[in-house]
Amino acid sequence: MLWLRLLCCLMLACELAAASAPVARRSEFVSIRGRLHVDAGRWAERQKLVLRWNPVSGDLRLTNRWTRLILKADTARAELDGTLIWMGAPLAQAGGRPLLPVQDADRVLAPLLNPPRLPDGHKVKRIAISAGHGGKDPGNMEGGRKEKDYTLKLAFELERQLKRAGFDVLQVRDKDRYIPPEERPVIANGKKADLYLALHYNGRPTARGSAQGLETYCLTFANGESTNGGQSRGFMPGNRHDRENLTLAYQVHRSLLGELEFADRGVRRANFAELRLAEMPAVLIEGGFMDSREDALKIYSDSARAKFATAIVDGVLAYKRLVERGQPEQ
Ligand SMILES: [Zn+2]
Repeated sequence: MLWLRLLCCLMLACELAAASAPVARRSEFVSIRGRLHVDAGRWAERQKLVLRWNPVSGDLRLTNRWTRLILKADTARAELDGTLIWMGAPLAQAGGRPLLPVQDADRVLAPLLNPPRLPDGHKVKRIAISAGHGGKDPGNMEGGRKEKDYTLKLAFELERQLKRAGFDVLQVRDKDRYIPPEERPVIANGKKADLYLALHYNGRPTARGSAQGLETYCLTFANGESTNGGQSRGFMPGNRHDRENLTLAYQVHRSLLGELEFADRGVRRANFAELRLAEMPAVLIEGGFMDSREDALKIYSDSARAKFATAIVDGVLAYKRLVERGQPEQ
């Protein structure tokens, strides 16, 4: 029975090797509370980023010559070159190493580091502007001021400046009338717009006090979480452009922050009807809080509104340059 004992020894050796394997070469993926995470070091290597991790403070820095991405353990805040991006879940740590939620690594961080490119011949030319609210729906109210009036003023200023920059413009709402949110992208779809910009202003967020700052939204990923809570409703037409949506949101948000010195409330994801049904890359801008004294300076005056529109145009141009890179000029 020597062969049987030898076989047993061999099997035992194999089992020991298998048992020690996770220690010797740690798995790249770890599940924490049912959510899959990837080892940040391995992910950073693939993205050609240099990792610096402080396990005591929980500070994670991922850098290369052009980019600096900063994360912190136990928060979903990611700062890309100084601009706040909300991930769906926090950076985790286990065994002294940082772990990125896989969904965020793949769907949020990777597309921002490696922006998508439109197929050859596809250009950003026609832009749909959707001035929030209208008619029976005033939107947020501050004193005698109605959100619907200021989104329309911004829409007209933005149209003027986009046309000057060489774009075609479609106004989804060009007067004080009510158009349900779910009908708005359908109008843009029918006119084959290449981009969709929804314009809004925030009101008081809660009874607990006021807030201030800029928020830019793109559509929640299929089966993903919205930044302000809630889940997606599965795959929607707008999810065909997840990578472009995020790139556009980041570029517009970053440009607005740079030119208007808003408090940064981040690039966020939400399930807004306007974004769900858009068949082109789409974002929704919440251009400050109507009841905030600082934000009011950027909302109500004509000169601030002109500056606001310029920042959106610059963001759209930055997006256009990125997604059309490598294509002939005309
Ligand atoms: Zn609104």
